[in-house]
Amino acid sequence: MNTSLLQTPIDYLKGVGPNRAEVLRKELGIHTYQDLLNLFPNRYIDKTKYYKINEIQRNTAEIQVIGKITHLKTVAQKRGKRLVADFVDDTGKIELVWFRGHKWLKESIKINEPYVIFGKVNWFNNSCSMPHPDMELLKEHEAGLRMAMQPIYPSTENLSKKGISNKVISKIIQQLFSESKQGFTETLPQSILQELKLVSKSEALLNIHFPQAPKKLALAQYRLKFEELFYIQLQLLIKNLIHKQKIKGFPFTEVGTYFNDFYQNHLPFELTNAQKRVVKEIRSDLGSSAQMNRLLQGDVGSGKTIVALMTCLLALDNNFQACLMAPTEILAIQHYQGLSELCEKLPIKILLLTGSSKTKERREIHESLEDGSLHLLIGTHALLEDKVKFKNLGLAIIDEQHRFGVAQRSKLWHKNTLPPHVLVMTATPIPRTLAMSLYGDLDISVIDELPPGRKAIKTVHRYDSNRLKVFRFIREEIEKGRQIYVVYPLIQESEKMDYKDLMDGYESIARDFPAPTYQISIVHGQMKPADKEYEMNRFVKGETQIMVATTVIEVGVNVPNASVMIIESAERFGLSQLHQLRGRVGRGAEQSYCILMTGHKLSQDSKTRLETMVRTNDGFEIAEVDLKLRGPGDIMGTQQSGVLNLRIADIVKDNEILKTARYYAKKMLTEDPSLKIPDHEVVKNTYRLMGKHKNIWNYIS
Ligand code: ADP
Ligand code: MG
Repeated sequence: MNTSLLQTPIDYLKGVGPNRAEVLRKELGIHTYQDLLNLFPNRYIDKTKYYKINEIQRNTAEIQVIGKITHLKTVAQKRGKRLVADFVDDTGKIELVWFRGHKWLKESIKINEPYVIFGKVNWFNNSCSMPHPDMELLKEHEAGLRMAMQPIYPSTENLSKKGISNKVISKIIQQLFSESKQGFTETLPQSILQELKLVSKSEALLNIHFPQAPKKLALAQYRLKFEELFYIQLQLLIKNLIHKQKIKGFPFTEVGTYFNDFYQNHLPFELTNAQKRVVKEIRSDLGSSAQMNRLLQGDVGSGKTIVALMTCLLALDNNFQACLMAPTEILAIQHYQGLSELCEKLPIKILLLTGSSKTKERREIHESLEDGSLHLLIGTHALLEDKVKFKNLGLAIIDEQHRFGVAQRSKLWHKNTLPPHVLVMTATPIPRTLAMSLYGDLDISVIDELPPGRKAIKTVHRYDSNRLKVFRFIREEIEKGRQIYVVYPLIQESEKMDYKDLMDGYESIARDFPAPTYQISIVHGQMKPADKEYEMNRFVKGETQIMVATTVIEVGVNVPNASVMIIESAERFGLSQLHQLRGRVGRGAEQSYCILMTGHKLSQDSKTRLETMVRTNDGFEIAEVDLKLRGPGDIMGTQQSGVLNLRIADIVKDNEILKTARYYAKKMLTEDPSLKIPDHEVVKNTYRLMGKHKNIWNYIS
């Protein structure tokens, strides 16, 4: 069946008709033959297995049993009656129950003759029953043609109400196949089919709907998943190519004195290999005439700051200004201090702009920005204000990207005649596979190596009942000269309660760690920025040994002497947040610790989160677990991206297929960017159809 025939409205298919067509359109979005063909089963039931009654478990889903009905009776209930049958085999007995169709059933059921029944069982105390089973006399069952694997299609309540059962869907799909005897048009190039030994489109479609054997089903699934992911990756890669051709940037052709002087004379440590690699990637972007749009991922403490600085120096070498935007004031201040220190010996003017910058400071900033004497501006989203005008902005760096929206990013784009190069840094590792699908149109760099000499942070889980021991440990660490964080959750919906938790916690710590021996800082979201900063600074300077805080300290803050992170009510935090918080310690030479405090009542997911934290320090591994626990829907950015609209592939489970698909899509575009080779014709046609129809799957077949 060719592509145009597949566009036939579903009404025309034999056995559908206008009424069913209407329901199919409304409930499943099936308009055409093609839509129906692409309605893939959610799962399959193994009809080769027969259960014995004594094998039925509480968690058994649908089962198939051979046995006899020995007894049939009608039982009155509150409303109406139910028909109950005793169904036995040589191992036990279950009840079959019907709430409708009694008359017909009573006439047709044959007592003491072998039946095959199929359905879901319900448990009540220690007995189980099966409501409205599918049943068939054993002799008919054996004579009939059966599929070993029965497909179960997506359904809705309305669909079954309107009589479109799974069986009906199977039937009309069967009809579609019988009308297309010659098979379906291939949609992948022969070279890929051969290299990966993929089954043909026709065979895949046949086996996805009517699997002839589990092995054939697996091959069909693999081929269709590959195809789905291949075309998504192709789309992203093409978008990226077009971006590079269309969006011109300022080429930074010079590697000049700022960069070289810093690199040769002022670099405070040797770069890790990962840092070197990333700097190289960035340099190659900046040297081309396309605008850079790069995402830099690196775990907390992996050393993104120095990479950011070196990128800025390249901008300065080419007579451009640079800016760095951070999501919070505290972070902006830290960046400002850190970068100023690193650039101490360089003739560079750096200023800080935040919401609390004074009028006089602002005036200086505005003036020196416009006359070009200010090289690097660091700040919060205050940078985005229209009043902030650069003489010649060439580079914008954004730290912690997920806190800024797309609209904000685009504001930065318009701060010069051509958009500045953009480097987005994030310490929230996004699993690679997800990143490929989410940011396929961004280039990605990863710092996957920590600076040498770091000791892995020791992480433990303790119950609230162990608090005294934990306090004793804190005291020992403070005696060694270390500093301690104690962090409380802050969740918007119950801000008041969280505030109370924080204050109660603070008081109890203050009792156990009394002044003047111990000094405690406290920071939370309801404080004025100036007070927050004052308290933060006392801790940074080492005047206080304990910092009691809410998650405001989550990102970026750098106090190398702090060696213990205590997270209260740790079960209330997400995995990536726990990992971020833990990253606040382990920044100095000392052994650092993270203590996760919880009560005894923990959900299974909470337990998994805590165990993962205790097991590993690797942000990418943690991100993978997080993705599995929460699903892609809760991970930033997935909602808009369409990765959730996958029809057959699973972004989490089909990770390897995704990588393969991306590899082949990339290879094809590198070797044949305009898809001129005859073997690629099919890709071009399929891709064109994708554009025509909004739904990526409408191109299929
Ligand atoms: P993050 O990626 O979390 O922003 P930072 O850039 O703040 O990490 O770096 C964390 C710490 O590691 C800083 O104190 C920094 O000076 C130090 N650091 C970064 N790179 C190296 C390196 N190559 N060798 C030694 N220390 C490094
Ligand atoms: Mg940082």
